[in-house]
Amino acid sequence: MIIIKEDFCLAPFNTFGLEVLAYELVMITSTEVLHELFKEGKLKENILVLSKGSNILFTGHFNGLVLLNQLWGKEVIVENDETILLKVNAGEFWPSLVEYTVENGWGGIENMTDIPGKVGAAPIQNIGAYGTELKDVMVSLEAFNFNTGIIETFTNEDCKFGYRSSIFKNDHMHKYFITSVVFKLTKNPTVNLSYKPLAEAFKHKHISEVTIAEVSAKVAEIRASKLPNPEKLKNAGSFFKNPVIDMAQFHNLKLKYETIPNYPQKDSTYKIPAGWLIEQCGLKGKRDGDVGVHEKQALVIVNYGDATGYDILKFANYIKDKVFEKFKVRLEFEVNVI
Ligand SMILES: Cc1cc2nc3c(=O)[nH]c(=O)nc-3n(C[C@H](O)[C@H](O)[C@H](O)COP(=O)(O)OP(=O)(O)OC[C@H]3O[C@@H](n4cnc5c(N)ncnc54)[C@H](O)[C@@H]3O)c2cc1C
Repeated sequence: MIIIKEDFCLAPFNTFGLEVLAYELVMITSTEVLHELFKEGKLKENILVLSKGSNILFTGHFNGLVLLNQLWGKEVIVENDETILLKVNAGEFWPSLVEYTVENGWGGIENMTDIPGKVGAAPIQNIGAYGTELKDVMVSLEAFNFNTGIIETFTNEDCKFGYRSSIFKNDHMHKYFITSVVFKLTKNPTVNLSYKPLAEAFKHKHISEVTIAEVSAKVAEIRASKLPNPEKLKNAGSFFKNPVIDMAQFHNLKLKYETIPNYPQKDSTYKIPAGWLIEQCGLKGKRDGDVGVHEKQALVIVNYGDATGYDILKFANYIKDKVFEKFKVRLEFEVNVI
């Protein structure tokens, strides 16, 4: 029998700590619960899958059915001398998964240490950090289709991964519940030090001497020094994506702002750090009541107390406008606004 909770407070389930209610909520502890809900016609509209709530902004109460992702478990499905295929259920906590793989000496996701979400949400925006993205290690995933009630398999290619995006943020948005993900990990890992601060941290060693455990520990250290811990200061990580602009616009900006940081992309576009743009507008550390830009990291918007989702959205739009006014660059939200 399915237990449907009504007017369920989501404050512990979103890292902005917003006191919003879900009209209805069901804990998804197995895929059978999804099949049951489908049979009862409960998955027709206004459905929201909620995992850890670390990439979501609720602008008000959610007037529908929240499916709270609690699908635990993982298993090695293929193993040989070189690789491991690990199938992980969607409700596993990402930082614990990284810890587990590092402890086993399986390389591949150590650069993504401490991204504070669950495994099922990781493909949604193709999570990434310190030179690695989910797409680099994901083989396939399984997802429950709300329209058909069938669990489908998506290959890496099917997911159409891009920078902080996938098919689940576009055509398939809110149409599937990702139930598990298969990762390809390596037993004789070579570390990835392509991210400058990591290369710098290990410059005294030859790359072959650096272990995945050391990389994971270093990433954890750098992150802790830069990013506010949502358990202490409510936030959802980077609020904005780094904008990608075309060559002409980049050269115009470069004429005016000689030191503009930039990352040339393969298709002749340029990625510009949104944090730099925000900082140049004098907004780093800016505060309006209980909402503010974090003092150390301009990409992060913080709820210092009792800000509402609406306050946070208004503030985020203000930042967007200011950046556009100065640079004619449109920032996009990385956080999912609900
Ligand atoms: C301090 C901090 C640092 C962060 N650093 C990074 C970083 O370095 N890199 C990075 O990429 N992100 C980062 N994030 C963002 C966030 O942690 C990731 O996007 C994470 O994958 C979100 O997971 P979640 O479980 O919290 O998802 P939620 O916030 O619960 O959900 C996010 C979106 O995915 C959908 N969703 C969730 N689970 C499922 C599922 N099983 N099936 C279908 N849809 C689903 C939700 O409906 C929602 O639209 C950071 C966040 C914080 C707070």
